[in-house]
Amino acid sequence: MKFTRFTHDASTHLGVITEDTIKEIKGDIFGEWEYSGNTFSIADVTLLAPLKPNQIIGIGANYVSKIDERPTELPKIPVFFFKPTSSVIGPEEEIMIPDGIEQVKFEAELAIIIGKEAKNVSESEMLDYVFGYTVGNDVTAPQFFHKDGHWTIGKSFDTFTPLGPVIETELDPFSVKVEAKLNEVEKQNSSTELMIIPIRRMLAFLTNVMTLKPGDVILTGSPVGAEFVGAGDVIECKIKEIGTLRNIFVPAKRHAKPY
Ligand code: MG
Repeated sequence: MKFTRFTHDASTHLGVITEDTIKEIKGDIFGEWEYSGNTFSIADVTLLAPLKPNQIIGIGANYVSKIDERPTELPKIPVFFFKPTSSVIGPEEEIMIPDGIEQVKFEAELAIIIGKEAKNVSESEMLDYVFGYTVGNDVTAPQFFHKDGHWTIGKSFDTFTPLGPVIETELDPFSVKVEAKLNEVEKQNSSTELMIIPIRRMLAFLTNVMTLKPGDVILTGSPVGAEFVGAGDVIECKIKEIGTLRNIFVPAKRHAKPY
């Protein structure tokens, strides 16, 4: 099932997409919901980020380029970081490059949406707590990584977390490819098998530290091939079974220099 959030006539709706039609739903996608009876043509609406995340957690440097490059011993403490929910935008929205930033990267990623409260969950049961999956772009300005290794600032600017176009609930996350095209040229195309910390392990690790809640989004890392971009560049992050998340980089419209 493909869940969407969209605007029509300046109001925001939830829906389920079937081919070119959206069936509106009322309620909470993580709880009780029902069809309202209203339908919309996709052509008549503007798709938004498919959810307002409760929180967003990313994992750093999580792909190898070939299966046999995966380390035999996994790091005891994976590199996780938070991104602010205020950085979320939807499909076709503009990614703003703040004034004073020369280096901005795209990072196409499989994004996991948690559906049930999860604490101390084992790896084998972890996927029971996953609601679905979307495509994320973990936009990053490494220039603002702290020299001591803290990444928060460089990943937190407004518009730096495009999500979408839908939440797919019926995905096998182990058999998909994460792709990115920059100005229609392929830059990333890797199977999720090339992750270093596997999905079940990263989620179970997190639940042994913190309670994950419905609407939490976990960005699972980006394949090799992410590059620096500039104003005017068009980035398409894609997982075929979910859809394409397309955004354009533009200069920030107002001064956003953080110092
Ligand atoms: Mg990333």
